[in-house]
Amino acid sequence: SCDSHETDSSHRKDDDSSVHGLSKKIVGVLGGGQLGRMLCQAASKMAIKVMVLDPSENCPASALAYDHMVGSFDDSATVEEFAKRCGVLTVETEHVDVATLEKLEQQGIDCEPKASTIRIIQDKYLQKVHFSRYGIPLPEFMEINNLEETKRAGELYGYPLMIKSKRLAYDGRGNAVAKSEGELSSAIDVLGGFGHGLYVEKWAPFIKELAVIVARGRDNSILCYPVVETIHKENICHMVKAPVDVPWRIRKLANDVAYKAISSLEGAGVFAVELFLTRDGQILLNEVAPRPHNSGHHTIESCYTSQFEQHLRAVVGLPLGDPSMKTPAAIMYNLLGEDEGEPGFKVAHQLIARALEIPGATAHWYDKTEMRRQRKMGHVTLVGPSVGVLEARLKSMLREEGYENL
Ligand code: ATP
Ligand code: MG
Ligand code: MG
Repeated sequence: SCDSHETDSSHRKDDDSSVHGLSKKIVGVLGGGQLGRMLCQAASKMAIKVMVLDPSENCPASALAYDHMVGSFDDSATVEEFAKRCGVLTVETEHVDVATLEKLEQQGIDCEPKASTIRIIQDKYLQKVHFSRYGIPLPEFMEINNLEETKRAGELYGYPLMIKSKRLAYDGRGNAVAKSEGELSSAIDVLGGFGHGLYVEKWAPFIKELAVIVARGRDNSILCYPVVETIHKENICHMVKAPVDVPWRIRKLANDVAYKAISSLEGAGVFAVELFLTRDGQILLNEVAPRPHNSGHHTIESCYTSQFEQHLRAVVGLPLGDPSMKTPAAIMYNLLGEDEGEPGFKVAHQLIARALEIPGATAHWYDKTEMRRQRKMGHVTLVGPSVGVLEARLKSMLREEGYENL
């Protein structure tokens, strides 16, 4: 992290493009986690400069960014100061100070995607209201303000009942399941009570979870990545298989729903659309992320244009790249935090060492200074001839240490 770089030239819209490589604009990213880090990796190949704003001195993106401003992406004055140094502002998290982004847009600062999009998405209830207005299929949902309303929702939707925080949710933190009416009040307590805003969703009896990364360029061109299957454990993404093994009709439907959902939002960039496939062949939208996403990490090795390169192309106004797969299949396996501290790091590093023995495997380590249980520490992507072959290779990688089963 350094603040000594000469960055204010980025504000001169007519400056010589050779100064900043492919793009005249320095890309400012709110957030410096693993997504910001992988954006920096993609940027370096294209001679695009990325600055990140993150409160943590040692955040994953810090070492690879052109510049790192240490500060909160949820603080108005900090975001304003950061924005002045960048040619275009984007995000690696939706949990940013959106009122400031709206203000900056009015002052002519370029935010991609648009602040209006981030406002809708960062409140999952508002997001659901928005998509239902656009006729996107969703699990039924309703706002809850007290226990009485929650009980009524339970009677209407049945159990298990999914209770969700409207805001600040990620990796399942913010979700609680009540298996019966008796569990409602403890589930609500787990989410910190009604104070911060809760809503309920009818349980989606899915047979698979799917995801589609959708890219929109500044010229409004839209391209979809191949539909993948995401496998979650305890509400957190555990593995991704690409492409998904479902009939063509389902892939088409998933693509259509994703395309329609993103068409209803404003701004350039990549978006992730999380979907449920139900037994009767319906596709329901779970949620959208206005940024690169865990379900698209495999694209680094498996697609002609990775989701990170695509996001940068989109926000700076370069032509979108080819999102199709250049390998028949890919599996992405998340390295989630185990024990706190040293023992946890040892397990993760052993898995990486084993990954290096697997043909077609690539390890990604995010360089987080602290390990917490279920925290995303890194991932491994396997590419090869078929998902079946890759499942066998992954199994051999996970053979011991509680990693014998998938
Ligand atoms: P992310 O890290 O993707 O932002 P999140 O914290 O926002 O996750 P959700 O995507 O809302 O959480 O839910 C996490 C997981 O919980 C889903 O991927 C799915 O497995 C399960 N889930 C969510 N909503 C429902 C539902 N209505 N019915 C059944 N399962 C659900
Ligand atoms: Mg989410
Ligand atoms: Mg999700």
